[in-house]
Amino acid sequence: MITPATQSTLDYALSRVADHFMFGIYFDLSRYLIAAGVLTALLLVFRGFAETRRIQQGRRASRADYTRELLSSMRTVMVYAVVTLAILVGRETGVILVKLQQATLWTIVWQFVLIVLAHDAWFYWAHRAMHSKRLFRATHLHHHKSRTPTPWTAYSFTMTEAVIEVAFVPIFLFTTSQLGIAYAGFAILFFIWHQMIRNVMAHAGSELFPAGWVDNPWTDWIATTTHHDLHHSSGHNYGFYFTWWDRWMGTEHPRYREAFREVTSRGRAAQPGAVAEPAE
Ligand SMILES: [Zn+2]
Ligand SMILES: [Zn+2]
Repeated sequence: MITPATQSTLDYALSRVADHFMFGIYFDLSRYLIAAGVLTALLLVFRGFAETRRIQQGRRASRADYTRELLSSMRTVMVYAVVTLAILVGRETGVILVKLQQATLWTIVWQFVLIVLAHDAWFYWAHRAMHSKRLFRATHLHHHKSRTPTPWTAYSFTMTEAVIEVAFVPIFLFTTSQLGIAYAGFAILFFIWHQMIRNVMAHAGSELFPAGWVDNPWTDWIATTTHHDLHHSSGHNYGFYFTWWDRWMGTEHPRYREAFREVTSRGRAAQPGAVAEPAE
């Protein structure tokens, strides 16, 4: 029987759930809009650089591409908000350990590195699985409708893919909690923003990394925009933040370094006296 006391507890719990869900929508929507919006604005401000460094010279995203990407990203935001809600409820019930205060800089650094490495591995294997014949149509085909990516492609997923992508966070935090590790709020926040920024950079359509990146062993392990752009235009390159999984598994695009060098050498080729880029 529902007593007034039970009713008020239930009302309280429901209002907390509603608050967390609204926070999730606000948080996930704003980071997508901010990251994709800022990068779009920068590509417009530095239009000359963006055009010279355009990876797919002969093809552009259409208005229909932008519309599809924006609309499906709203669906992704809803899925992510449900997971944010689950994590917040998990934290309140003690299933997920997250410390919002009292973390040292060292703790934030190693926890950030650990979650980024784990997410990179998750992404690589989940991404490869979604490219299997059985799963591709139902999960990942939608993301690949964007043959020429734009910053707005970052969240362009089917609902199933959005669930697969975001499932990493609660699974990871649940696992670390079981091991007695309380994750620092700042480590999670930096991870989320790093993920979002790298995501829109990977879909920028123009190479953002400096020339020589792939020829320097100190930087070559970090994936560039060309790395993921090639994945959209011609396959290979399933990794996200780093290049090592594709190298270990033999799935790197055979022309990756060559394509990066070609794109990043164009700025220099545009010097007076050099041969101009062919018009589209
Ligand atoms: Zn893919
Ligand atoms: Zn993509």
